[in-house]
Amino acid sequence: MSDDYCDTKSCYRETKLFIGHFALALGAKKYAPQVSLGILFLACQLADIIWPNLVLLGIETLQVEPGITVMTPLDFVHYPYSHSLIAILLWSSIFGIFYWLLNRSGTKAAIVIGMLVLSHWILDVITHRPDMPITFSDSSRIGLGLWNNVGLAVSVELLLFAAGVWLYVRHTKASNRIGSIGFWSLVAFLVVIYAGNLFGPPPPSAMAVAWSAQALWLVIAWGFWVDRHRLARSVQ
Ligand SMILES: [Zn+2]
Repeated sequence: MSDDYCDTKSCYRETKLFIGHFALALGAKKYAPQVSLGILFLACQLADIIWPNLVLLGIETLQVEPGITVMTPLDFVHYPYSHSLIAILLWSSIFGIFYWLLNRSGTKAAIVIGMLVLSHWILDVITHRPDMPITFSDSSRIGLGLWNNVGLAVSVELLLFAAGVWLYVRHTKASNRIGSIGFWSLVAFLVVIYAGNLFGPPPPSAMAVAWSAQALWLVIAWGFWVDRHRLARSVQ
């Protein structure tokens, strides 16, 4: 097997999975109770779903550079189509409008979905070093570099995640055991993969990262699955 591919275990370890994005998707259930958690996951991670495919196609560029930030060795050399502000505004409008066309009554939900897509850029700006492009040209890039402060980054992300889980649980209730055990297994899975990201060795190559990032689809499918076994509940 070449370095460009990964077995199941290393695949998840190499996934660029930061749980802050999922936190916002879980919390968004409060504002869009009729929208499946799978769609909310898809929205918050849309940029990271487009990105590895553009890397595989040679349109965007990634390098593994251990030490480039304390928390992740990924050097996002060129990714304006998945991660620039302009691109994400476009993706956010497309996804929101697409949802609205399919569900005309769901204007508020469509806005929540669009905001979630956009939130990816904001969270990435907070965590990344100054590598987040504004336009397609790569000329101005920003980033607050939270990943250089591991203690703070992990605390912020875990707190955000805990708040997201709390909101989701508060606004839904399990209708059977898949809805409870399946959901809590998903929460545990995300935390374990996150920890694996922090403590695992750097991935062998950029292509391995791009392939392993496809594992995000598993989390999205898991979100759809458990959400079908939970009911929205109204909270005063
Ligand atoms: Zn990203």
